[in-house]
Amino acid sequence: TRVSTAKINIGRVLVVGATGFIGHFIAEASLQAGRPTYVLVRPGSTNNPSKASAVKALQDKGAISVHGLINDKESMEKILKEHEIDIVISAVGGANIMDQLILLEAIKKVGTVKRFLPSEFGHDVDRAEPVEPGLTMYKEKQKVRRMVEESGVPYTYICCNSIASWPYFDNTHPSEVLPPLDQFQIYGDGTVKAYFVAGTDIGRLTMKTVDDVRTINKNVHFRPLCNLYNINELASLWEKKIGRTLPRVTITEDDLLAAAAENCIPESIVASFTHDIFIKGCQINFSVDGPNDVELGSLYPEETFRTLDECFNDFLVKLQSEDKPDANEVPTKTHVVEPIPIAATCA
Ligand code: NDP
Repeated sequence: TRVSTAKINIGRVLVVGATGFIGHFIAEASLQAGRPTYVLVRPGSTNNPSKASAVKALQDKGAISVHGLINDKESMEKILKEHEIDIVISAVGGANIMDQLILLEAIKKVGTVKRFLPSEFGHDVDRAEPVEPGLTMYKEKQKVRRMVEESGVPYTYICCNSIASWPYFDNTHPSEVLPPLDQFQIYGDGTVKAYFVAGTDIGRLTMKTVDDVRTINKNVHFRPLCNLYNINELASLWEKKIGRTLPRVTITEDDLLAAAAENCIPESIVASFTHDIFIKGCQINFSVDGPNDVELGSLYPEETFRTLDECFNDFLVKLQSEDKPDANEVPTKTHVVEPIPIAATCA
């Protein structure tokens, strides 16, 4: 069944990875924007109760779930054709970046997709150069970019920088965790700035770009000045919220490089990105004035971002609502949502 829509110009969206961390924000925002929204669900994924309830919640809001794998070309062609998908947004995780090449083949074959957003949602991978093992992931994202460009399928690359949260150097999904309650780990001298964007804004603002002619074949950079913070400032902001100061320990450049060199996946990948952001300044060491760059604020000057201050208020509310049998017991990392287990493999 096809989703009927009053506004015939609104394209039908397929979200890949809607059961994942970033993809969930995208699917929610697509529904919120009133778009016909299809979510690709991996066969067997819903055997996991938390994934099943995530899919159910999206369905309750109007999402149509379709079962498939992006690395199964024939079934992807069928899905794209049958549902007349106009826009494909992929938010597959780091381990599945190359699977998108098969999806791209299907998109090319069908020939009716008007925009493809491959899984980016971080830094401009043609500019940033983290150490390994992050570099390998960037090389894969670069490879996908080159194949997309060669395919002739219109694309948009979302460079949304960091998700608004405490940037733990070993956690791929830091906004699922409260900022520290025992001590701050400050990277280097703590003065290098980065841009922080709420997950809901990553979703909402990504959805604005998907049929905007000004974002065809562009890198869209999210650089909200209101959320440009260094880690010392981030620590002070959280201290203000919790009403007390915490000790600060320094994580040196060498510490981060050593964590990256352990090659423990995914933690070492995060360590290499943390080094790139908070030591090398990869989010701020270039200006977005190349022929393929557009900055979100200049595209949509009327749009506001949730401030980091507001996002930290949310963390405070979650902290206060947590059931604490012993008020003096201070958890180091408190999960605010059910954590999804990540299997670590170290080389
Ligand atoms: P997750 O691992 O949380 O989710 C990946 C999703 O992709 C899941 O829904 C998964 O399905 C689905 N998936 C994986 N492989 C396939 C496949 N072959 N076919 C169909 N679906 C598939 O990913 P993240 O949200 O962590 O990462 C998404 C992107 O966002 C990445 O590019 C990452 O680098 C970036 N990112 C950016 C952050 C930032 O701060 N800016 C933070 C975190 C990520 P299933 O549920 O069945 O496993």
